[in-house]
Amino acid sequence: MSSHIAAEAARRRTFAVISHPDAGKSTITEALALYGRAISSAGAVHGKGDRKGVVSDWMSMEQDRGISITSAALQFEYRDCVVNLLDTPGHADFSEDTYRVLTAVDAAVMLLDAAKGLEPQTLKLFEVCRARRIPVITFVNKWDRPAKDALELIEEIETRIGIKPTPVTWPVGVGGEFRGVIERVGFVEGGEADGKRGEATGGRRLAGPQVPGMVRYERSPGGQQLAVSEFLDEDAALAAFGPDYERAREESELLSAVEADFDPKTFEAGHTTPTLFGAALVHFGVGQLLDLLVDIAPSPFAREDAAGAPRELETGFSGFVFKSQANMNASHRDQLAFIRVCSGKFERGMQVTQAQGGRTMSTKYAQTLFGASRDTVEEAWPGDIVGLVNATGLSVGDTIYAGRSVEYPPLPAFAPEHFGALQMHDTSKAKRFRRGIAQLDAEGVVQVLYSERRGEATPVLAAVGPLQFEVTVARLAAEFDVPATIDNLPYQLARVTDAEGAARLRTSPGVEVFTRPRDGAHLVALPNKYRIQTLLNDHPGLSLEPLLAGG
Ligand code: GDP
Repeated sequence: MSSHIAAEAARRRTFAVISHPDAGKSTITEALALYGRAISSAGAVHGKGDRKGVVSDWMSMEQDRGISITSAALQFEYRDCVVNLLDTPGHADFSEDTYRVLTAVDAAVMLLDAAKGLEPQTLKLFEVCRARRIPVITFVNKWDRPAKDALELIEEIETRIGIKPTPVTWPVGVGGEFRGVIERVGFVEGGEADGKRGEATGGRRLAGPQVPGMVRYERSPGGQQLAVSEFLDEDAALAAFGPDYERAREESELLSAVEADFDPKTFEAGHTTPTLFGAALVHFGVGQLLDLLVDIAPSPFAREDAAGAPRELETGFSGFVFKSQANMNASHRDQLAFIRVCSGKFERGMQVTQAQGGRTMSTKYAQTLFGASRDTVEEAWPGDIVGLVNATGLSVGDTIYAGRSVEYPPLPAFAPEHFGALQMHDTSKAKRFRRGIAQLDAEGVVQVLYSERRGEATPVLAAVGPLQFEVTVARLAAEFDVPATIDNLPYQLARVTDAEGAARLRTSPGVEVFTRPRDGAHLVALPNKYRIQTLLNDHPGLSLEPLLAGG
């Protein structure tokens, strides 16, 4: 049994794509699923036309009682591995949701728009990966369109995020002339290190020496099927694409000269990011990405518990809630908790214990989530994602386990950048209002804060992105029948202080002191970062600690 667990864990790859909106996350998700044969043709994963953001997702959920596609974890088999691709919410606004998904992955793919390079949201998400020591593979997307210079992009990544890109592929041509890539490492068919080359449509293993030449891509008609590709040896590449190929080869040699070649050790340590070039829309490079993930991304490993002791994979089942969502159906309001399995084998129906509170519960209603459909899951292994239905009482960050007890560290509370006072005008609904707020706080939709100044009746919401406020108001109305409004407050950041600091700052102008019931922390909300310095000047010895920016 235990070696079975180790074997199942070893073949899991659990990752998320981090990107700025519009870089092509939905497109590459579809393409990956297509390569993984999870779907038969592209377009089945995301109903892109309906994707107007979280607010509208909630509305449509009310109608069909389905689960929002933004909560989906896509699972498929590829080669001899099981790939779990966790979706991060696709809306333009940041939310803690996106950050929390990164607590449940073992690797990330950083997707860049070739014309735009590193964009703000990508940078923020990358910082979370760095803080959590999640290895990152970079995919430069949309190479079939006008793009930045490839070498400049590489330099931009290195100087701005401080890790070295190690290109695994290098593009031959760009835009309409994007012909294919030089593979700077040896990919071989089916894992045999015999240098045999063939279709680069996936299913190949990173092994053996680099073979001179290039992989030529060709679009599939209509873009619905896998792209076609073939290996051209050096003579054929020169004959077909002389100047473009020569330039790519020279640039690739230049990269080797500056030691930008793939190295598994520095990748795992987070010092380098293996980089690929491609075009998700026409599937160029997607097969190589999937092969690379399977070959080099880490499989689940023993996670550290709250005390820092690793829980071995073979120890009994354990997992933690990284996302929780209430269904919008008013007549049957079920609650879905998304669990990342960390150790042991999960079996549907097993009794589990909630570490926080010691409650035991049954897991009769366990589901996997794929797009809009839910399927019952019978078993799951480390790295897998399970959705528990009707898991009321389970909050984001909670640990569940069977057998020997364990408690994983609490999920980080991310630094809010938006603050708003929640006003409820119908006092006869005060009780429901409180219940709704508690629910949304437990789900981690927003951070709920209270200040002495405003009292219990007027909670203040703090969020990473303002869209979370809209979601809160929409859900209070739809699920709890409580109309509420938000007054934006003029704060942009918060610091943690101690009880003494809270007392000292209570009457300071321009700032507001809050308590956060979730963990009892004292937070000081500030209009800008300059105010921090004036507070420190006015109150020598004051404790003002930054909140976690990302894990
Ligand atoms: P998301 O917001 O990151 O999920 O981005 P989408 O996947 O929705 O893509 C944004 C736009 O870029 C869409 O119009 C896509 O068709 C387009 N797109 C995505 N990948 C590529 C690509 O490789 N090449 C080109 N030309 N367009 C792409």
